[in-house]
Amino acid sequence: MATVTEMSRQPRVVIVGGGFGGLRAARALGKAPVRVTLIDRRNHHVFQPLLYQVATAALSPADISAPIRHVVRKQRNTEVLLAEVTSVDVERREVHIHDLAGGLDRSVPYEYLVLATGADQSYFGHEEWEQFAPGLKSLEDATALRRHILLAFEAAENLMTTDPEAARTLLTFVVVGAGPTGVEMAGEIAEVARKALIADFRHINPASARIVLVEAMPHILAAYPEALAAQATAKLKRLGVEVRTDTRVEEVDADGVTINGERLTAKTVIWAAGVTASPAGRWLGAETDRAGRVMVRDDLTVPGHPEIFVIGDTAHTIWRGKQLPGFAPVALQQGAYVAKVIRERVAGKEEHAPFSYFDKGTLSTVGRLYAIADIRGLKLAGFVAWVLWVVVHIFFLIGFRNRFVVMFQWAWAFVTYQRGARLITNVGEAQTEIARRESVGSGWRR
Ligand SMILES: Cc1cc2nc3c(=O)[nH]c(=O)nc-3n(C[C@H](O)[C@H](O)[C@H](O)COP(=O)(O)OP(=O)(O)OC[C@H]3O[C@@H](n4cnc5c(N)ncnc54)[C@H](O)[C@@H]3O)c2cc1C
Repeated sequence: MATVTEMSRQPRVVIVGGGFGGLRAARALGKAPVRVTLIDRRNHHVFQPLLYQVATAALSPADISAPIRHVVRKQRNTEVLLAEVTSVDVERREVHIHDLAGGLDRSVPYEYLVLATGADQSYFGHEEWEQFAPGLKSLEDATALRRHILLAFEAAENLMTTDPEAARTLLTFVVVGAGPTGVEMAGEIAEVARKALIADFRHINPASARIVLVEAMPHILAAYPEALAAQATAKLKRLGVEVRTDTRVEEVDADGVTINGERLTAKTVIWAAGVTASPAGRWLGAETDRAGRVMVRDDLTVPGHPEIFVIGDTAHTIWRGKQLPGFAPVALQQGAYVAKVIRERVAGKEEHAPFSYFDKGTLSTVGRLYAIADIRGLKLAGFVAWVLWVVVHIFFLIGFRNRFVVMFQWAWAFVTYQRGARLITNVGEAQTEIARRESVGSGWRR
């Protein structure tokens, strides 16, 4: 074990982002002769692929997250800072941070910098739509969405006898974007309405809820082979989801959406349509693609800066002639790779094999007990794919307690059709949210 003096002489690796890529890099440097500073604006790592389960009340926020500090607690060479990175001075090799606990601004020097700051929603130039159609990127988003969905049923129940038209608007849910997140959300809302809530109300029939999935492309799930996407579409339709492909959103406001010239009144619109990378490219003054992803070299460094790595959703990586998608396994493998390169550099090795991606395949659920899978040429749709999905997602959850608890919650939810996390917190605030949207037409509040 290195002494304090030895450690102070070791190169400093600053990792920004404790998501999939950054956390994997930090863990892989746990025993390396470097000092690691891991900076995140949240104190927790979020398992984003299960956010929609929180948004639809199947799981609680704590089931799919873990405090970053706890995850790296055994790494003596690693410190964690709860701070927002605001810029990078590439000449002085310093990261500028706003300390979110103490409120101070300061700089953190680095010898190696890993930027793993992920992506945000993109509204394709219509940022004003965000207030009416929030996306699903964080635990705050998921719990706000859960509250909104549950409250929509409550408000519809209260209004059904006096204003059935308003109640129907409350029971209309529009999901924009039919990638995996949009498909999973639409399928789960259908399950909640048709199964979990079916016996709970007296004035409304939750199963009459209208769920519309809107997609600009000719078919849903563009990353999957068309045959699998067609099976997913058929399953969604069996669940009662209206699938509108070749359909563009032209307007979003407090009362619904306009799609291909048609007006749909809805009190819940969920945005799952596009992503834009974090502003890391601007911090560096580096070349980016149209979505703001930094164009990196084949060793994931920024051209002209061999000491700066950009990984995960923030990087534009070409592998075997194709751009790698914004998927968790890409970020994880890139995190492990940059840690290896840094270890080699510290050991004096200057030449490194380029990053190479091992594609394990893709999986998405469509409602209860059904998923599609495209695994290295093996295409599956149905229950077996769903079991595979469960195993993979449980396996990758960080922390044993989480895995155990989540497994139990799921088993319970699937046996009983119930959703243990059906809590509406801050009811007063939530009521005014819906009332505000009803009366003055403003957006959601987180
Ligand atoms: C709803 C949803 C469902 C998904 N489902 C799947 C799926 O089923 N399968 C799959 O493979 N992928 C899925 N993904 C994509 C996957 O989650 C991402 O590809 C992956 O999280 C990217 O990892 P990352 O490390 O690049 O970024 P992230 O995991 O997003 O981590 C970024 C981190 O950076 C921090 N950060 C950002 N900016 C700053 C700043 N300025 N200062 C400090 N910290 C900052 C954030 O707080 C965050 O912790 C899904 C994503 C979402 C949103």
